[in-house]
Amino acid sequence: MSPLEQIIAEIIAAEGPMRIDRYMALCLGHPEHGYYMAREPFGAEGDFVTAPEVSQVFGELIGVWCVAAWAAMGQPRAVSLVELGPGRGTLMSDVLRTIRKAAPPMAQAIKVHLVETSERLRQIQRRTLAGDVQWHNSLEGVPEGPMIVLANEFFDALPIRQFEKRQGRWAERVIGFDGSRLSLGLMPAELGPQGQDGDVIEFAPARTEVARAIGERLARSKGAALIVDYGHLVSAPGDTLQAMRKHAHVPVTESPGDCDLTSHVDFEALGRAIGAGGGRVHRALEQGVFLNAMGLQQRTQQLAAKADPAASSRLIRQAERLAGGEQMGKLFKVLAATSPELETPYPFGRT
Ligand code: SAH
Repeated sequence: MSPLEQIIAEIIAAEGPMRIDRYMALCLGHPEHGYYMAREPFGAEGDFVTAPEVSQVFGELIGVWCVAAWAAMGQPRAVSLVELGPGRGTLMSDVLRTIRKAAPPMAQAIKVHLVETSERLRQIQRRTLAGDVQWHNSLEGVPEGPMIVLANEFFDALPIRQFEKRQGRWAERVIGFDGSRLSLGLMPAELGPQGQDGDVIEFAPARTEVARAIGERLARSKGAALIVDYGHLVSAPGDTLQAMRKHAHVPVTESPGDCDLTSHVDFEALGRAIGAGGGRVHRALEQGVFLNAMGLQQRTQQLAAKADPAASSRLIRQAERLAGGEQMGKLFKVLAATSPELETPYPFGRT
């Protein structure tokens, strides 16, 4: 038994079966044994590879988007550049390099704020970004004022609740303990009559809360947000909870704290929450469509022309990985939101 499995088993023994959102929060965020606190999730040696870790071009194109957002905001002389869940800091580093190159006055205007709960990852971000950066445990800590918010593979890590319809009744999925191992179980739940037998539906109160807070910020001060994650454009039933270890799926009850635990983001629900907060939400795009419209192929060709043949074919493979329909291009979605008075930013609303 992992130390965290022991802790979870004890809580269940004392309090009864545990809701999935609490289980996820403990697996990912337990101060000592939580996955993001204790493990190295990223890269070939870790459990998964994220887009900024695939290629520098991902962050560069997002940097270009940020420059356009700043221009649309009226080039404020002070703006917070906020990233939620920055991982190793790779995306922010690529974004900052691009901003310095493309828009020096914007580079002068920005202050970087990172929302990160893992002390271990904060250390890595400090090394990657070496500069004037402030860390916060939540968006609430970021000072008020104009801001641009970025989040890549952040929302998928926030806890969800799951409900399942069985024999005409809804039940909540919970984690139980039978004396020797953790297992998934069901607890009766009070939920509306919609849905068919076998349906699983997911709610993410923690996501809604952050998305609403982003919307409220955008309503109070000029700003823009770009949210990238895997998930679906339209709400639909389905069990999307998944545990990953060494690039393979494992059961969600396996070795808690040692595996990444995530679920697909419901972009319709996310957009609704940003809208409820007062932000203006633009129709989300598939990642492949977004990146190609931002110039993925051109930038790849530009870098490839200067590289040796091996590096050049690697760049082309990386672009395919980011935008290819069979790879990250379709599963991942990109959602933009702005202050209500701002125009729909490119390339949203164009395709
Ligand atoms: N954006 C990075 C990392 C994605 S992994 C990339 O694309 O490579 C998820 C990140 O969110 C990690 O940095 C993790 O520590 C952070 N995180 C997870 N839950 C969080 C929470 N509740 N509040 C703040 N950060 C969180």
